[in-house]
Amino acid sequence: MRATVMYGAGDVRIETVPDARVIESTDAVVAVSHACICGSDLWPYKTMEHSDTGRRMGHEAIGVVDAVGADVRTMKVGDLVIIPFAYSDGTCVFCHEALHTSCVRGGFFGVEGMDGAQAEAVRVPQADGTLFVLPVSKDDALMPSLLTLSDVMGTGHHAAVIAKVSPGKTVAVVGDGAVGLCGVIAARRLGAEQIIILGRHADRIALAREFGATNVVSERGDEAVERVRQLTGGYGVHSVLECVGLEQSMLTAISIARPRGAVGRVGVPQGETMAGSQPAFYNNITVGGGPAPVRAYIDELLPDILEGRIEPGKVFDRVVGLDDVPDGYRAMDQRESIKVMVEP
Ligand SMILES: [Zn+2]
Repeated sequence: MRATVMYGAGDVRIETVPDARVIESTDAVVAVSHACICGSDLWPYKTMEHSDTGRRMGHEAIGVVDAVGADVRTMKVGDLVIIPFAYSDGTCVFCHEALHTSCVRGGFFGVEGMDGAQAEAVRVPQADGTLFVLPVSKDDALMPSLLTLSDVMGTGHHAAVIAKVSPGKTVAVVGDGAVGLCGVIAARRLGAEQIIILGRHADRIALAREFGATNVVSERGDEAVERVRQLTGGYGVHSVLECVGLEQSMLTAISIARPRGAVGRVGVPQGETMAGSQPAFYNNITVGGGPAPVRAYIDELLPDILEGRIEPGKVFDRVVGLDDVPDGYRAMDQRESIKVMVEP
């Protein structure tokens, strides 16, 4: 089968690799119908050191079950399924706490030894706990929005939940990538009264407004903090969704939270230390977040997509086949595209 392999910064190739197959009795093999390129894939695209063996890429997908192991019970060949970016058994103590990304038998796609989703097929461990069977066909017009349940919509929702967004709250979203844009959807969905997007790309800002952002702050650093204060009566916001992962974005996030506010961080941190320790302490800011347990959120978010109340699939502004995945990376890296969908 063909799959996306990254060999180093800027070096993404489509190669023939061994076919995905059932190895454990709890595995399924899924033929990928829709996948995408993630903002987090751009970090290795910028910085990865050369590897002779390469790394399989991709961790967001929808596909059709092609084979199941002997112990798989909840799906059958031919079912259309969402593949969340982490696999999980659905039965351990953390899965029962709805924190599937900490599953004791879990892990992530697109890392050492695991298949990536930017490929013709994927081996999925712990299939019963991981995969979510969809009640639609793969030709459904809602497919782009359903695909976001594998990562970005669930991740934006997680940021909002951790940031304690609730009706009447003021919210700021740091970052105008696909996760930030989905964070705007999530904040509005949870009843936020004011939603400030911090970003500076015209196409993304327009989409943020469509999704429910009430204010735009395009400044950075201290000027951004000042602007948010002006927009919130001098106090800062109740809830901040940090959707970037850089030191500067984290410092901004903490600096725009009002006393006793909360920051939900879902941007993959690019540094070892966390900025903003002093203002977080003196203002009693709650800082939380991490890899979103998107598997846990599908039940809650799916009806809103099926019934048309939210359309996170609008974050996709380009569709490519597998051969054009390398150009998709380039387009996202150069901010030509917000998010690229892949149809293998
Ligand atoms: Zn588990």
